[in-house]
Amino acid sequence: MSKKNSAVQEFEYKAEMKQLLDLIVHSLYTHPEIFLRELVSNASDALSKARFGSLSDDGRLKAVGEPAIRITLDSKTAAFSIEDSGIGMTEEELIANLGTVAKSGTLGFMQALREQKQELDGNLIGQFGVGFYSVFMVADEVTVETRSALEGSEGLRWRSSGQGTYTIEKIEKNEPGTKISFTFKEEHKEFAEEYRVENIIRKYSNFVDFPIYLGEKQLNSITALWQRPKSELKTEEVNEFYKFISNDFNDPLDYLHVSVEGAVSFKAILFLPKEAPMELLYRQGELEQKGPQLYVKKVMIQHECRDLLPEYLRFIAGVVDTEDLSLNVSREIVQSSPVMAKIRQILTGKILGWFEEMATEQPERFRTFYKAFGPIVKIGLNTDFTNRQKLIELLRFESTKTAEGEYVTLKEYVGRMGAEQKEIYYHSGGEKKQLLANPNLEYFQDNGIEVLLLSDPVDVFVIPSIHEYDKKPLKSIEKADIDFSSGTKERDEAVAENLLTPLLAIFRETLGEGIEDVVESHRLVSSPVTLVSGKDAMDSQMERMMKMMQQEMPAGKKILEVNPSHPIIRNLSGMMMADERNPLIRTTIRQLYEGALLLEGGLDSTTDFVSRMNELIEAATLSR
Ligand code: ADP
Ligand code: MG
Repeated sequence: MSKKNSAVQEFEYKAEMKQLLDLIVHSLYTHPEIFLRELVSNASDALSKARFGSLSDDGRLKAVGEPAIRITLDSKTAAFSIEDSGIGMTEEELIANLGTVAKSGTLGFMQALREQKQELDGNLIGQFGVGFYSVFMVADEVTVETRSALEGSEGLRWRSSGQGTYTIEKIEKNEPGTKISFTFKEEHKEFAEEYRVENIIRKYSNFVDFPIYLGEKQLNSITALWQRPKSELKTEEVNEFYKFISNDFNDPLDYLHVSVEGAVSFKAILFLPKEAPMELLYRQGELEQKGPQLYVKKVMIQHECRDLLPEYLRFIAGVVDTEDLSLNVSREIVQSSPVMAKIRQILTGKILGWFEEMATEQPERFRTFYKAFGPIVKIGLNTDFTNRQKLIELLRFESTKTAEGEYVTLKEYVGRMGAEQKEIYYHSGGEKKQLLANPNLEYFQDNGIEVLLLSDPVDVFVIPSIHEYDKKPLKSIEKADIDFSSGTKERDEAVAENLLTPLLAIFRETLGEGIEDVVESHRLVSSPVTLVSGKDAMDSQMERMMKMMQQEMPAGKKILEVNPSHPIIRNLSGMMMADERNPLIRTTIRQLYEGALLLEGGLDSTTDFVSRMNELIEAATLSR
């Protein structure tokens, strides 16, 4: 620690920050070299901000020196420093940026990750907006000397050993910018070797938009990849570029190079990640998509531009560079600019075309993409009406006729529909296996009618909004008003009409208010009863989703369908003839009803169910 004098102020980290630092220092075992990527990326951000700031010319910024990042090393003393001539930080900014966790939820998120993976991958750290702190993986104490480019700022020194406190003091510093220096921990001394630093920069930071010097030597090659013709691009460098801009450490699944000249002109290189980013998976609810980077004439204007793509495509990473905006454009102008609207429209069309082509030419790749991002893309069905038809064609479903891991499109479904079939049937909720166990499917299975199995939870929100495809209405098989008259199969001997009517009356009387009605079933083959929704009722899967989202909802009443050919139902009718008051009849009816509820995931408590089951077993074992 520095000598204490009156000019040195000491600050304490907030509790959350302490925990986070502890996690970083003691749990990040893999990829310690990413500290360099993070520091370079911050330096580069600072330089971009300074460049953008002086371009947008609000007069408050002091002119900065040559934009560059300079690294110094001393392999003997294991000393390291990185300096940029960027925007710098004021005292408030130092406290806000290097003393607190910027994004809420970061700590919990990292802790959850650690519990899951045991070993926390240092590679991930940049995704959490806490990249700076990765220096504490390799250094015990860190010094940041900075001066803001804002007119009238002073030099400041920030120092911390990442243990709970940090200090700030005033220093002499003539030029705006930031210098970060420290000595490597004994076990990380290797990073003070030139070749090591060179390799890391090549690996992670080759595409930084500003020169990175080690001594006299420039380590990176600055190239605007997207400006070059597609035919000249090598997959390897494109992949490296993707990793650089996205913080992903996997290669992209695919990329799209776009060059448009006309009403607007722009070039773009866009990437599909292989997997949905963790944030997307963990932070559902606050789905904060990022969007590509916006460049104007090769100068970065916005790091994560939300206006370039519609929300349902914002998981696509990349760069869009246009000549049609001015360099000193402000965020507000970007947002409302007709140029942006035009770019977004063209890009959306190109991207959907790209997906379509992938689906036909690279079905394997498309499947990977659809698995990871299908649930997000589907949201477009409810928001992007211009492209609705294209999005509908992209939909893929499992069905009662698809093999494991295979999908069917609506087009294929319609193509193989039987001549008498007038509707497209779907069944939603849970996984394929669970869906297949539902008695409501029996009629369809028995008659060889294909049913789409909607296993993605998003489906219940978007699929019902597609009222029809190719003039065929889409219908949930839970709906009670499906026409079953075209069924061909012979049925087993059924309970006679004059006995069924009083039996159904006993069902109604026993189940009472809980149920809308009890009717004879035409769809069941091997199950005694099933629950279906009335014409205007909500699909049961939809109901469950609403419950999960804590929406207040009147409990939807169901219709119980009874299979008059089933042995249990035939036996019940026999029991009714012998003694209508036999309590076993009511017990059995309750049990059948709750069993049907259980099957569709709607039974809240199993206590009664189990005690009734025991009662019935007792009766069964007694009679032997
Ligand atoms: P992120 O870069 O994702 O915001 P970091 O932990 O890497 O998270 O950095 C935190 C913040 O500290 C940055 O957003 C920036 O405001 C500030 N900062 C870090 N390094 C520098 C630098 N070299 N120059 C100016 N500001 C910096
Ligand atoms: Mg950073």
